[in-house]
Amino acid sequence: MARKVGIYTRISRDDEGDALGVARQRQDCERLADLRSWQAVKVYEDNDVSAFKRNVVRDEFELMLKDLRAGLIDGIVAYDLDRLARQPRDLERLIEIFDERARLSFATVTNDINIATPDGRTMARIMVAFANKSSHDASRRIRRKHLELAQQGKDSGGPAPYGWRRDARNEVDPKAAQAIRQAQREILAGVRIGTIRQRWWEEGLGNPRAGTKRMAHHHVEHILTNPRLVGYRTYHGEILYGEDGKPVLGEWESINTLEEWEAVCAVVAERKLDYPNKNRARKYLLSGIARCALCKTKIRGQTNHKWKPESKASRYKYQCSVVNGGCGKVGRIGEPVDRLIVQLVLEEQRERAATAATPGEQRWPQEHDLELVSQEITQLIEAEKAKQISVSTLLQMLPSKERERDELKLSRTRFYKEQKQAEAQAGAENLTAEEFFDLPIERQQEIILHSLSAVMISPAGRGRRVFDPSLIEPVWR
Ligand SMILES: [Zn+2]
Repeated sequence: MARKVGIYTRISRDDEGDALGVARQRQDCERLADLRSWQAVKVYEDNDVSAFKRNVVRDEFELMLKDLRAGLIDGIVAYDLDRLARQPRDLERLIEIFDERARLSFATVTNDINIATPDGRTMARIMVAFANKSSHDASRRIRRKHLELAQQGKDSGGPAPYGWRRDARNEVDPKAAQAIRQAQREILAGVRIGTIRQRWWEEGLGNPRAGTKRMAHHHVEHILTNPRLVGYRTYHGEILYGEDGKPVLGEWESINTLEEWEAVCAVVAERKLDYPNKNRARKYLLSGIARCALCKTKIRGQTNHKWKPESKASRYKYQCSVVNGGCGKVGRIGEPVDRLIVQLVLEEQRERAATAATPGEQRWPQEHDLELVSQEITQLIEAEKAKQISVSTLLQMLPSKERERDELKLSRTRFYKEQKQAEAQAGAENLTAEEFFDLPIERQQEIILHSLSAVMISPAGRGRRVFDPSLIEPVWR
């Protein structure tokens, strides 16, 4: 029987945006395993994790050590030693397992090192020690230089992020900036990042570097929430603050106002809280909005198994389901229900828009308070520097002021988030039903929920064929 081996691949931040890297590593490893007549049974893949950073836990690497120790795999194929273990400590842990379990296999694609043999171990130790040292020296040098430049608001090198011109990183690329703003409005209106990711892919927007490959979800999210959009300089993914306690501003043109950007970030963060790892995709318009008039349980859409091409019935239906805790007694063909509700909702929103005065853009009323408390904080810190107050006095006074400031900031974010969301969600009154159905499904649902809190569906009785609108009751907000 062929030996069972695990394949280990890792992509570091340096190769960002190049998920191809991992795929290629894996292919090469698989080929090598084939050559040795080993059976690759599992791939361990660490993404965006540096093997060099001491404090970073590589989940898949740890899992692989466990599996190796437990005998689930009898060896490892890695792309190179660097990817596998850049820290001597990691290498020693690996070697320990090779000591414990006799006859383990080991191979790397790029160098002919076998830590299953004593010579191979010596070689590996030397190589890892060297890689470790040079990483340290190089990274310390580079880090200092980068931080220096960052503090001056200088841009980092490399290809321009999406939104700025390829040939001039500090200038906005109008077409890309427009795509970003459009997507942000959609996010505020309730559209999922996944939907934007799909649309961008189809329209060739986003990161052209990715070519035919679709961008990762987190890349799209990053493009839409990047602090760079408001001119903030980041350092290792965090907003960099200057000595005055304010974010360092970069030397490039910004794409968003602070209010716009904060609103988008707040909505994205909020959704992560609401739906951690939950797939929000809903295929049917009134799924979770429709309710059974008998048992009041939420009704979901489902495929209509009775559907035939020649029949007039629609492909889906809304069915009260015992599985979801309902009575199972109410069901209705989907399409006419959707048409009816959309028509009613669009009418209602047209009427409302005609009578309502357009609210002007309002400023957050507590801007002055925030300014004051920020000044107080600065003054306290200055006073301590000038030895007018002691450190312990400073530390007694500071926390409550900081809390006050943070609460105010939070309130500002909430204020503009709600304002921007309301703006983005308005405008449905000009839609035709046709245009409505062209929108992404979650946008459609947001529009419906803007007017309705539920749609009650009453039983139609036996054998009734004709769709009866009076049995569908919208519950207006
Ligand atoms: Zn029911």
